[in-house]
Amino acid sequence: MKYALVVVDVLNQDVDKIFTYAIPEALNNICVGMRVLVPFGRQGNIEGVVVSVSDTTDLPLDKLKYVHSLIDSVPFLNEEQIFLAKWIKKQYHATMADALRLFIPAQVRAGKVKTKYIQMIKLSASKEQTDVVLGSLKPGTKAHRIISVLAEYGDMEKSRLNHIVGACYEPLKKLISKGIVKEYSEEAVRSPYLDIAPERAPWLNLNRKQNEVLDEIILSKNQFAPFLLHGVTGSGKTEVYMQAINKITAENKTAVVLVPEISLTPQMVLNFRKKLGDGVAILHSALGQGERFDEWKRILTGQAHIVIGARSAIFAPLKNIGIIIVDEEHESSYVSETHPRYDAIEVAIQRAKYNNCPIVLGSATPSVNRYYKAQKGEFKLVEMLRRANGKEMPPVSVVDMTEEFSKGNRTIFSQELYENMCSTLSKDQQIMLFLNRRGYSSFVMCRACGETITCENCDVSLTYHSNVDKLRCHYCGYEIPMPKLCPYCGSKFIKQFGAGTQKVEEEFLKLFPDKKTVRMDIDTTRGKDAHYHLLKQLADGSAQALIGTQMIAKGHDFPNVTLVGVVAADGMLRMPDYRSRERTFSLITQVSGRAGRAENPGKVVVQTYSPQHFVIECAKNHDYKSFFEKEIEQRKAMWYPPFARIIRILYVCEDAEKAYNGSLQAYDKIRVLLQKSGDNVLYSERSQAPIGRLQEMYRHQILIKIKEFDGIEDLVDKLFDSIKGIAEKDLYCDIQINPVNMF
Ligand code: ADP
Ligand code: ZN
Ligand code: ZN
Repeated sequence: MKYALVVVDVLNQDVDKIFTYAIPEALNNICVGMRVLVPFGRQGNIEGVVVSVSDTTDLPLDKLKYVHSLIDSVPFLNEEQIFLAKWIKKQYHATMADALRLFIPAQVRAGKVKTKYIQMIKLSASKEQTDVVLGSLKPGTKAHRIISVLAEYGDMEKSRLNHIVGACYEPLKKLISKGIVKEYSEEAVRSPYLDIAPERAPWLNLNRKQNEVLDEIILSKNQFAPFLLHGVTGSGKTEVYMQAINKITAENKTAVVLVPEISLTPQMVLNFRKKLGDGVAILHSALGQGERFDEWKRILTGQAHIVIGARSAIFAPLKNIGIIIVDEEHESSYVSETHPRYDAIEVAIQRAKYNNCPIVLGSATPSVNRYYKAQKGEFKLVEMLRRANGKEMPPVSVVDMTEEFSKGNRTIFSQELYENMCSTLSKDQQIMLFLNRRGYSSFVMCRACGETITCENCDVSLTYHSNVDKLRCHYCGYEIPMPKLCPYCGSKFIKQFGAGTQKVEEEFLKLFPDKKTVRMDIDTTRGKDAHYHLLKQLADGSAQALIGTQMIAKGHDFPNVTLVGVVAADGMLRMPDYRSRERTFSLITQVSGRAGRAENPGKVVVQTYSPQHFVIECAKNHDYKSFFEKEIEQRKAMWYPPFARIIRILYVCEDAEKAYNGSLQAYDKIRVLLQKSGDNVLYSERSQAPIGRLQEMYRHQILIKIKEFDGIEDLVDKLFDSIKGIAEKDLYCDIQINPVNMF
């Protein structure tokens, strides 16, 4: 008798165990990674994944239940994926079921999406027979036309045949029964590509710097080798990535490329397919369910051997990975926003270790944490600090907005930005305007009583959206019409404060009424191909200005954009978060990189109330290294990562008291452990979360700051172990390490 160790798909700490089932004789082909149905308590048969098969068990045989049946005939997860799931479970304090779920797309798990089949019709009789039949039929009849069409075009979808011949159910049935034609079904492939098979593009001749980097990568192709590639925007990182992949996959290996949000970079995907062909699969959240399922299957079956995708693509069922690339390594979107809060880059590093292959983290503005690690030798730093086409970085002009104000300019555009916009448009060139806030205004306040209008479900102010004349909550989507009178005091003096992208668009069109704009933010880019269609208007020249949030900062290459305006740099810089300086530097640098990439020289105008701030000065000089030196000093002085670790434990519940009590109970346990750790613990506090109520849920948090010291992993494990039993059915516990967004 053999026994299967099974992780059941139940997301509950209590059942985070591995259960043993006996394997019936008929299912003797069971192996690790297969999904099975197993009896589980009163729930009947539920799904599980086999993580191990053994010949013996210590358990009493009469108590053992049998595996009910197999869901898959081939292993669904391979050994590597199970290894990674175990690592994720430990690293992110998740259950094994949580971790395994990451590797199985929701569509597959729920069994909702199936392989799609289409009905096909073909001629099945020999040519001679067909000719005889055709001769016996009257020309013009449907049966005659069916045969002629099939003879001319070959096999055809039934629906298409019906379309060409006209409704032909009866005659088709007759021909089938006579054995002249045959009906069969074929697997349909749902394709996420807008261009089915793009023309192949030739490889570029790499410049010296690119060649050096490529050589270094290829040299370590058969070993774990982590690289941090600091390459300025336009230095040709993408070409290096693609050539490295091409070389390495030629030896029967596979590759993963992670990009921050792939739907934002259709150009990048197209480039990959032009150079690397149909073996490229794409995985991202904006794909249709069916498309995702089919792409995932192409990877599983080896039809696709290069995967390019957003965060979750790191879980793709690839075998024998030869290289992993992470583009825009500094982006916060690589960290999951839901439990388990994995960092896709950390997972990628584990995969690279498992596969003994190089991993390249590329960025024009590397994250301060990893650049520091590179200095310590954890990553090999490689650099490409010049643009591939030899063009200089565009000059950046910093405008002091307090001066504008004292000169009497109350609009959102400074004189300098305005003049530059005029001259750019007069030359038929294009403009990008960047603002860190979507919607029309940031909040709505009554000037009579001073109240701001807030969300019903969350403790946050609502944002005005001018196109629908509504106030909207950016956290839960709650919406109300813009009130005419203050809901608190009835005054009519309610006013919008602060500018969002809609307002910038409106002001721009007031100044240039005959121009066309494209606005890109979450509100305009919801549809699957929305980005593509918006960007197309810029590419074909029908729009003259692109206005948007950080999503326009990434990877677009528009040769005719020569002016970039950062409308308000302070919005980001003043955020109460230790990473706000890093983010501001990165965003200004990234958007600056969009200007003047081709023939015409570019120009950047940054509007700010703090022109002397080192972040603004370093960004103006395109000087990452000076920025890093100053920033790392501040981090050290203030005990922020990478010198310390911030841990946030958030308790969330519909019931206010329960959330509060949960955090209190946990804090009691944690404090005991922290006290033992002496002065390695810098700070610990329990309080309401910055947004105390979100989507009708109450939120309380524990914040801890610990120095990075030798025993930190051990301490952190103990902390989490001590609070394991506190979360229950309706009280959620969310653990965040160095949290990205702390609302
Ligand atoms: P990055 O990803 O570093 O911002 P890209 O890879 O997008 O830069 O390259 C910027 C531009 O330079 C692209 O238009 C690309 O085709 C071009 N380019 C890259 N490498 C070379 C090269 N060796 N010779 C000529 N042009 C190049
Ligand atoms: Zn009021
Ligand atoms: Zn809300």
